[in-house]
Amino acid sequence: MRISVALDVPLRQLFDYLPKPGEPVPKPGSRVKVPFGRRTLCGVVWDTNPSPNLAVSQLKTVRENIDEAPLFHDRDRKLIDFAARYYHQPIGEVVMAALPPLLRQGGMVDPTIERITITAIGLDKLAGDLTKRAPRQQALLEVLAAEQQGLNAEALQQRMPGWRQVGKPLIKQGAIHSERIEKRERWRLAAPRSDKPHLSDEQAKAVEAIESFDDGFRCWLLDGVTGSGKTEVFLRLIERQIERNQQTLLLVPEIGLTPQMVRRLEARLGVRVALLHSELSDLDRATAWVAAATGEALVVVGTRSSVFAPMANTGLIIVDEEHDPSLKQHEGFRYHARDLAIFRAADANIPVILGSATPSLETLANAQDGKYGHLRLTQRAAGARPPKVTVVDTNRFNLQDGLSQPVITAIQSHLDDGHQVLIYLNRRGYAPTLICTDCGTIARCQHCDANMTVHASRGQLQCHHCGARRALPTACETCHEPVRPLGEGTERVEQTLANLIPEYPLARIDSDTTSARGAMDKALAAAKSGESKLLIGTQMLAKGHHLPDLTLVVILNADQGFFASDFRASERLAQTIVQVSGRAGRGQRAGEVLIQTAYPEHRWLKTLVNEGYHALAATILQERQLAGWPPYTAIAVLHAASKQESAAIEFLNQAKATLVPFGIHALGPAPASMLRRQGRYRYQLLLTADSRQSLQSQLLRLTDFLATHKPPHHLRWSLDVDPQSEL
Ligand code: ADP
Ligand code: ZN
Repeated sequence: MRISVALDVPLRQLFDYLPKPGEPVPKPGSRVKVPFGRRTLCGVVWDTNPSPNLAVSQLKTVRENIDEAPLFHDRDRKLIDFAARYYHQPIGEVVMAALPPLLRQGGMVDPTIERITITAIGLDKLAGDLTKRAPRQQALLEVLAAEQQGLNAEALQQRMPGWRQVGKPLIKQGAIHSERIEKRERWRLAAPRSDKPHLSDEQAKAVEAIESFDDGFRCWLLDGVTGSGKTEVFLRLIERQIERNQQTLLLVPEIGLTPQMVRRLEARLGVRVALLHSELSDLDRATAWVAAATGEALVVVGTRSSVFAPMANTGLIIVDEEHDPSLKQHEGFRYHARDLAIFRAADANIPVILGSATPSLETLANAQDGKYGHLRLTQRAAGARPPKVTVVDTNRFNLQDGLSQPVITAIQSHLDDGHQVLIYLNRRGYAPTLICTDCGTIARCQHCDANMTVHASRGQLQCHHCGARRALPTACETCHEPVRPLGEGTERVEQTLANLIPEYPLARIDSDTTSARGAMDKALAAAKSGESKLLIGTQMLAKGHHLPDLTLVVILNADQGFFASDFRASERLAQTIVQVSGRAGRGQRAGEVLIQTAYPEHRWLKTLVNEGYHALAATILQERQLAGWPPYTAIAVLHAASKQESAAIEFLNQAKATLVPFGIHALGPAPASMLRRQGRYRYQLLLTADSRQSLQSQLLRLTDFLATHKPPHHLRWSLDVDPQSEL
């Protein structure tokens, strides 16, 4: 009897061990501690009785069985196996990505909590006069006396930091009592709210179509304009799942979206949501994960890695904002949570819903082919009107720090009317670069082919690609003449507007202002309550947020996207413009959108503004078909980066030589769009195939090569299947 174990090591294999003598053989999906080299590693049993590849005498023995019951069910292991195969990742790395950090390290979720209660002795003491002698003890007893059930240690620590020191003598005297009790997370809350809106015809049709389809698996595209009430449709469907005691998995692209979504779900559904994302404490995350696995939590909401969360009894999977690039992991194990969600639903034979106002072109093509059910919500909910979009040609106006007069006037007037305004600019910092007023030298990063961004408030230049920083020079680094910041970032626009329109409270929301834990939620709360009137932000602000007082959206530098080399640039640009615009006029007042650009005649922009997202999407799809891009082909990219340019090229050439060019094209090695980054030269080999099958068969050859060929020192490679960026 032997077992094979998935370990967090970069080898594409499982490792065989002998079970611990005298103990039950651990079941597949449960964790064990095993010797590996000189270390002890935590791994997950993947198979029992695998076909032997080593003689028994060579096998080591499991040190410890961690779990009694498996953490992963058979279905969960099937999903992980598929992901490892499809993305050509070592199985151990995929398993570890699927586990929350606490469990990955071999930890357990403690099912008990410490509870502190006051005793009769304590109550007597309180009735006496402690105040003068021991005011802190008095205070502690008072806090506890007010709580009939006592308080758990964590809550007590919040109310009275340092209570443990104060409480020590009280515990000795028997005045307070500490015990560990079974923690029964209440995954059900009070009665759900009953004041549901009456569904529009389109919403009702969507709910009906999905509910009445009783053939198990089906992928649905809920294609609804911003503010059309997609979330309301989700809520109705989740309600039905709860009635049947079945679980729902809801994937969202950003952490910023989750607190808002969670509050809305909990209020409406009357269940506690198990939340899974990387900003939670390790314990909270593991607790939620276990509640999902056991089926206690009926609604599970999480960012992309929660697509792997085991669930005992899933009835429905929803991917909100399915077009969002952050559903794809861009480093390490590069997987697309949407695509895996579809695999998972198919395997479990349940419906999966992809929601978006700007569906990805892959999804749209599938819907048009009839592969997915296509449900449309064309009207905004509750009578809200679509925003009025105007293009402002910057060639016709003088700009004041990047802002044209019509833009400034509109901002002032919406604010004076008592509304909120959002300025969107996808560039943080003060200015994208620093230029010499005399010789024109631009501040460059020493490690990348990129300009340094000016961060005025920190007095620094920073590279947004490698993180390098240096002090903001006061004179040109070459000729010592004066320098000036060139262009605008969010910091500069904030400063300009604070000077121009000082009477309204302003908030900048970008990764510089929201890096602290909880800062994003706070900033959003201030935006929602109407406390901040003028919001300036990057794409963080573009997504999903519902701000009813917001009536004007200004898009400042849409132009950037016009000249990107990536074949997805037009799609991304259109999605961003529509999503940001969609924040305007979601309440009673109609909204207005101003797109400031130096290229008002650009055909993408014209089609988008005059005919809408779906018209532009249709054009782009035709172009993709002609040019042989996805969704009409399947692609993968092999990246290589090295300090020696020739090594990267040579490595990719060798990789290319292992391919059989049948039903597949290999293009390259070609320089990446930014050739040098972090001191490494980056090249890529692009594989394009007519079908996923022919792509996969060649990828097998490639991974064979990668597994056996030892690349030169300093060279890093990565394989990206269905890449979403950097082409
Ligand atoms: P989306 O997710 O499509 O952007 P939401 O579901 O957030 O839209 O809905 C936008 C707003 O309209 C929310 O405030 C929501 O409560 C409200 N809403 C949704 N459906 C209805 C409806 N049928 N009647 C009234 N209000 C609705
Ligand atoms: Zn750099």
